[in-house]
Amino acid sequence: MISPETLKKQVDLASLSTMATPARARYFLAATTVEQALAGLELAATEQWPLLILGGGSNLVFCDDFQGLVLHMAIRGRRWTAVDEQGATLVLAAGENWHDAVLYAARAGYRGIENLALIPGTAGAAPVQNIGAYGMELADTLVSVKVWDRELQQERLLKPEDCQFGYRDSLFKQQPGRYLILEIRLRLSRRGEYRTGYGELAQWFGGVQPRSPLEVTEAVMALRRRKLPDPQQLPNAGSFFKNPVVSEAVWQGLRQEWPDMVAFPAEDEQVKLAAGWLIERCGWKGYKNQTVGVHHKQALVLVNHSGGTGKEVMALASRIREEVHGTFGVTLEVEPGIVPEHCGLPPL
Ligand SMILES: Cc1cc2nc3c(=O)[nH]c(=O)nc-3n(C[C@H](O)[C@H](O)[C@H](O)COP(=O)(O)OP(=O)(O)OC[C@H]3O[C@@H](n4cnc5c(N)ncnc54)[C@H](O)[C@@H]3O)c2cc1C
Repeated sequence: MISPETLKKQVDLASLSTMATPARARYFLAATTVEQALAGLELAATEQWPLLILGGGSNLVFCDDFQGLVLHMAIRGRRWTAVDEQGATLVLAAGENWHDAVLYAARAGYRGIENLALIPGTAGAAPVQNIGAYGMELADTLVSVKVWDRELQQERLLKPEDCQFGYRDSLFKQQPGRYLILEIRLRLSRRGEYRTGYGELAQWFGGVQPRSPLEVTEAVMALRRRKLPDPQQLPNAGSFFKNPVVSEAVWQGLRQEWPDMVAFPAEDEQVKLAAGWLIERCGWKGYKNQTVGVHHKQALVLVNHSGGTGKEVMALASRIREEVHGTFGVTLEVEPGIVPEHCGLPPL
């Protein structure tokens, strides 16, 4: 049961998303226990309210009021289990802050998620887009995800092979609304190689092995702070577009015309183009209108300078996407979830 004090109405969502665009939730429930979260799901189903699951709001852009129930996952708790000489399993409740968990693990001397420092948001949202950075992704250490399956109406323990992980992709993205993530388990190790071969991290360590996972975490934090805006200072939703993946043949054609285009090998012999490079080359880096703009150090990040609305952010995203398409023939795809969905960009 949900008490009337717990279920709130007309709640302001701006402070609950890192893009800080104005919007309200018609109904709002901050669940601090699994029972409350499940009661929220039941209420939404009974009342036939649309449902939005909210973690830290760092991968969502609010464009208009949400006419349903926003279920804010605020269930806390972390513990170690299966500790042995090789490593330990870290169990995180959905509402745990992700970056705090990375620091917690690194300080305890465990490695496996140290490159994923300073990614905002909650542990429960981490599998949704299989968070990744500096050559490491969540799927590398994930052991299981405990979910509530709304279709089967039961709790389930999903293994990584069930989660259909890909680049910023998973089962949870492909079937939105079906799974409420309650808890994740990560297998971390005391030994093994650090992954410091990626770009700037490789330069930072210059071939020298780090002394501890905390040293890697601190390096990642310093590197990220150099180029990414802190949402507390300058609201943003991280990378606004995914890096587009093209065939080898398309890549060869682009490369002939744009020899300095930045790209990386992707799965199935495809090529991932650096979306930031495409946007920068179209002249958008550092663009600013009265309210919103493109970050001056990282063209992939759209920022909310002063009181911008979600619609203003989307209008800017639309102009950028059109220009990139016109210049390179490549279609950019928006990375964060747009709420409500109808405010998303239409197909080009
Ligand atoms: C400055 C900045 C830097 C970033 N850097 C990176 C980066 O390096 N790598 C990267 O991968 N991402 C990055 N992101 C994106 C973002 O931080 C991640 O996607 C993060 O995992 C989102 O967590 P959240 O709790 O804020 O999720 P939210 O934004 O609240 O939600 C995101 C999606 O997950 C769903 N969801 C949330 N919680 C649950 C749950 N418990 N069960 C089921 N569904 C749920 C929501 O419905 C929504 O669809 C960055 C964002 C910012 C603002």
